[in-house]
Amino acid sequence: VQGGGDMLEVRGVSMRFKGLRALEEVSLTVPAGQIRGVVGPNGSGKTTLFNIVSGFYVATAGRVLLEGDDVGGVAPYRLARRGVARTFQNLRLFGDLTVRENLLVALDHTRTAWTWRYVALPHAVVRHDRALRDQAARLLDRYGLTAFADAQPRSLPYGIQRRIEIARAMALSPRLLLLDEPAAGLNGEEVLRLAEMVRSLRASGVTIVIIEHNMGLVMSLCDQVTVLSGGRVIADGLPGEVAVLPEVVEAYLGE
Ligand code: ADP
Repeated sequence: VQGGGDMLEVRGVSMRFKGLRALEEVSLTVPAGQIRGVVGPNGSGKTTLFNIVSGFYVATAGRVLLEGDDVGGVAPYRLARRGVARTFQNLRLFGDLTVRENLLVALDHTRTAWTWRYVALPHAVVRHDRALRDQAARLLDRYGLTAFADAQPRSLPYGIQRRIEIARAMALSPRLLLLDEPAAGLNGEEVLRLAEMVRSLRASGVTIVIIEHNMGLVMSLCDQVTVLSGGRVIADGLPGEVAVLPEVVEAYLGE
């Protein structure tokens, strides 16, 4: 049965790396407009799930549906054009480019081989035409980055770099945004600011899936939480319900 209004459906997805079973029959459905949390101990398969949904890996078994369309095996840059954007647990900004240029590269939809990989692009290939510059200026403004526009990300505080990554993901005008541990390394005030930003993205119509270890943030932000352990979904439900389940408490204590 095709669920009306589902942004993402992961159906029975398994992933093997040689002998290692990173994901086992994982299924989850994310309705459009939801903020979904994905939590679980280290090594439970969270990032692997993101890598599959964003097209970096092709699942060994199972299907990934984006608004009902099977997108298994679709390349990351094509998925980006279809509205899927992501951030990385370890920041992958273009270190040799300025903040503005990082956004320009993402805004440049004419780039066909745009893959989000951490290649250092020569400055020559960054297009600076008027329309793109205006769009970049708007993003810089919206994400409080105007003062840092001409700096290289690596020279900036970590919290700012995280914000640049989200701004760059938003440059693709995604409908589905995957955030991989966006609060890692942030201080309390920055976490609050992040939560506010994610809520406003949702208000603007973006569906969000967020991998996060900060349980306070997950509890306050997410509509629904999926818990992975050992590559399997061990719980899925409202944040308050999921947090008190014995198997969830155990999975975390066992970390
Ligand atoms: P999490 O994000 O929950 O910490 P991961 O998805 O990163 O977990 O990893 C799940 C398991 O898959 C781990 O055992 C990890 O070592 C393994 N894994 C992830 N990516 C690869 C890969 N490219 N090659 C081999 N093993 C991998």
